[in-house]
Amino acid sequence: MSETGTAPSKETREFQTEVRQLLHLMIHSLYSNREIFLRELISNASDACDKLRFLSIEQPELLGGDELSIELVPDVGAGTLTIRDNGIGMSREEVIENLGTIARSGTKRFIESMSGDQKKDSQLIGQFGVGFYSAFIVADRVSVLSRRAGAEEAVRWESGGEGEFSVEPADKAERGTEIVLYLRDDAREFLEDYRLRAIVHRYSDHIGLPIRLRKAEGEPETLNQAQAFWTRPKSELSDEDYRQFYQHLTHDSDSPLAWAHHRVEGTLEYTSLLYIPEAAPFDLWDREQSRGVQLYVKRVFILDKAAELLPAYLRFVRGLVDTADLPLNVSREILQGNRTVDKIRAALVKRVFDMLEDMAKNRPEDYAKFWAQFGQVFKEGIVEDPANRDRIARLCRFHSTQHKAGPDVSLQAYIERMGEDQDKIYYITGDTVTAAASSPHLEGFAARGYEVLLLVDRIDEWVVAHLTEFDGKPLESVARASKDLESKIETPEKARLEGEYKDVLERAAAVLAGRVASVRLSSRLTESPSCLVAEEGGLSRRLEEILRRSGEVGALPSAQPILELNGGHPLVERLKGDAEDQSFADLVEVLFGQAVLAEGGQLEDPANFVRRLNGLILGAAAGGEASSIIVT
Ligand code: ADP
Repeated sequence: MSETGTAPSKETREFQTEVRQLLHLMIHSLYSNREIFLRELISNASDACDKLRFLSIEQPELLGGDELSIELVPDVGAGTLTIRDNGIGMSREEVIENLGTIARSGTKRFIESMSGDQKKDSQLIGQFGVGFYSAFIVADRVSVLSRRAGAEEAVRWESGGEGEFSVEPADKAERGTEIVLYLRDDAREFLEDYRLRAIVHRYSDHIGLPIRLRKAEGEPETLNQAQAFWTRPKSELSDEDYRQFYQHLTHDSDSPLAWAHHRVEGTLEYTSLLYIPEAAPFDLWDREQSRGVQLYVKRVFILDKAAELLPAYLRFVRGLVDTADLPLNVSREILQGNRTVDKIRAALVKRVFDMLEDMAKNRPEDYAKFWAQFGQVFKEGIVEDPANRDRIARLCRFHSTQHKAGPDVSLQAYIERMGEDQDKIYYITGDTVTAAASSPHLEGFAARGYEVLLLVDRIDEWVVAHLTEFDGKPLESVARASKDLESKIETPEKARLEGEYKDVLERAAAVLAGRVASVRLSSRLTESPSCLVAEEGGLSRRLEEILRRSGEVGALPSAQPILELNGGHPLVERLKGDAEDQSFADLVEVLFGQAVLAEGGQLEDPANFVRRLNGLILGAAAGGEASSIIVT
């Protein structure tokens, strides 16, 4: 019913710019794999039927007694292929909006992602939700006749795919949508029965309603299984079936890395089919992006992305859940805090772990692919899901000083390689593997033959803040002021050094007052003269840096680091003989500045640092003590 009471007449409109660009590409550059147009139109028809079924839960009169179905009607004489459904249909406004005016964000992204490789580009079509326009790959004119369920009047949309489309009021006896494709001469193959059968079998077999081939004479022929894929017994389904269903479900042209299909009966009743994709979607890092698996209640499609069914750190998992334990009119509000949902979620999480553990054990190469794509997201689970922390940690992989090429070191493997005298899992955090691996902090550990994990993802700081031990072994940063390493090398030599440096350490602490908590001799340095370590129990220095840079904390009470000096290093030794205050201070500043730089930090006054350093170099080149360095 139109609001004015009179039906609007025919009008012609321009396609939105992006839609025009897209159509141009469809028509002029996508010839290979043309058959996907049918998959897209059938998928739209099937969605329209799902939507109607969903609405009819509240308004049963909309559905009436009809069986929902999709029909393909080839007409060789007219050269047309019609795709007809008795789903929800569209109003005039919806037709205008959906088929021409609004370029969805998907259209834009699609155009941006076009690679020029036709095969790839045509596979992208479905992924980006620009499916309807693929009709123009095979048709030079498309006519859509649609009547919205519950409405009286129908609408006809027509276009030759160039720059414009028309809409006008029309008559249609039944609700639903009928799309007539006026096939191009070179696309008449899509009128052939065998061709249509093969395409439906290939792409749409698992669609949960019948797809029928209707000819002028004879009985219509059902072309697909017409049974919801996940309700079929596992024994009937091949790997290829699972792959195809995945592609149908996700519009992802890659094959999934793994899947798990379960039917659960008893106190809870549900079927789940979960997939691990091979590659991350472009919006994996977009926090606003909706996530989650599809939710069905007794085969009725309810929600596309039910975030409540999986925790955020498993947002890469695709698939669906079909349950009999939720009401059909379930809404997102009801899902939140619902006990059935909580139980299903807990079970799904375990299934994902099972899948990943199996992959890690039996298909390490695939697991490496998984980890490269999704490891950073998965690690969020250490923080987010304390109840499963241990199982998550077991699945994590890291770089280490012995496996820089990784990340492929599991905590278990690390522990197995630990020597008798080592009782902690040591790690260092850094921005890159190279930077972490060349940190002075590692020197003492390398000298003792200890492996150190190199944690280089931003999330890792949070991971180690929450994962304090694994299998009874504490995790410890090599950049912390642990007594641990020192206790292992208490020697007379050390006691002697302590005595020799007592005075130097006190003077150095005075020079750096307000910037370091203390200055002391190091047991972790063998080559570098100096490094900074965080006070035991304090915030790690890198986490502090990340927080400060991100502005997440305003006035962070900055814990002062400890400056450690390598008593065996010539530069440090020089301090002992340096009685003059100015040159002593300059050398201490240089040692401090180096330590800041070595851990990727920023100097407060770089120009002064450079001047002091140059002074030192000149002093050394002159063959004497750098007795006076001019500092301005
Ligand atoms: P997508 O299906 O990815 O949203 P399409 O370009 O294929 O993108 O379709 C655009 C919109 O047009 C759909 O979202 C849907 O609202 C509407 N539509 C398309 N085909 C039908 C149909 N057969 N019945 C009802 N609505 C349809």
